[in-house]
Amino acid sequence: MAAPSADLRIEGVSKRFGEVLALDGVALDITSGELLTILGPSGSGKTTLLKVVAGFEKADSGSVRIDGAEVTALPPARRDIGMVFQNYALFPHLTVAGNVAFPLEMRNIGRAEIDRRVSEALALVELAGYDRRLPKQLSGGQQQRVALARAIVFKPRLLLLDEPFGALDRKLRETMQLEVRRLQRRLGLTTIFITHDQEEALVLSDRIAVMNKGTIQQVAGTTEIYERPANDFVADFVGESNIFHGTMTAPGVVNLEGGRRLSVNSTTQPGARVGVLMRPERFGGGTNSFAGEVKEAVYLGASFKLRLACDDGLELIVRQSARGALPIPGTRVSVGIDPESIHVF
Ligand code: ATP
Repeated sequence: MAAPSADLRIEGVSKRFGEVLALDGVALDITSGELLTILGPSGSGKTTLLKVVAGFEKADSGSVRIDGAEVTALPPARRDIGMVFQNYALFPHLTVAGNVAFPLEMRNIGRAEIDRRVSEALALVELAGYDRRLPKQLSGGQQQRVALARAIVFKPRLLLLDEPFGALDRKLRETMQLEVRRLQRRLGLTTIFITHDQEEALVLSDRIAVMNKGTIQQVAGTTEIYERPANDFVADFVGESNIFHGTMTAPGVVNLEGGRRLSVNSTTQPGARVGVLMRPERFGGGTNSFAGEVKEAVYLGASFKLRLACDDGLELIVRQSARGALPIPGTRVSVGIDPESIHVF
């Protein structure tokens, strides 16, 4: 069931709702067969962008091209896009098979072909044998699988998923994430997946586009986003972080506000104002050392998370693998971090 998958080009898309500028000149390219997640906080414009791509919302300016062809003026039904939303939106009175068949019936496809494709789609989402059930006889995860089957059964050129697993419990959500990834790879289907959950974005994506206030902050592969965020917003939104600001005073040296000096591995010119990011799990032994007092310690199963008040006034979040006893508040500790583990932006 290989689909002819499309590439997508979004250029200069803006959309205003009264006072709110929901999209502010968004540009994004998605290549054929890619899974891109749009990650951002509530209200950052993710759903609005997806609606513009699908044709449910008209942009004030800008263009959307699928395989080079402008679709800005096409109605949703003519764009050949499969969609899944958070609230299943299955037809409650139709059986599973009826729901999945629906987009094919809209396209006047013959009965035998419909039956064949419905079975194929249900098998792909591992619901073979469920065709005669009604949605209310299914669990939440199963309902979302039906929605997924319905979104891919007509071989769309693009698949858009808007927080599809938001209502599922954590375990099921993780299973579904892996299933979507497997299905998407198998079909080679160009996919945009919206989420506000950074872990979900890291698990699923080829690339992540981080959005804030209607703008794209950074588009990059998962490692790049986590290890080398472009700015404070991305560093803070994706993962836990210690972010400080300062000035490059010499090659490889940053003076932080407050006076602390850090050795970093960066070619940024002396004199430049910079941000530095130190991930909590990167502390151990290292040439930049910090001594201080544990203010708070939390046991997280695989690791301890410590809040340290350092003697030079900095406050750090540090993760240590959970061995021995959890340090009690007041304990003095010292930790270090290597220049290579500090990201300068
Ligand atoms: P969430 O994760 O909460 O779904 P989001 O990132 O998808 O958020 P959008 O739903 O795209 O954000 O909304 C972006 C902004 O546009 C918000 O401030 C929202 O209130 C506003 N907005 C969206 N749709 C409308 C509308 N139809 N009328 C007025 N304002 C709207």
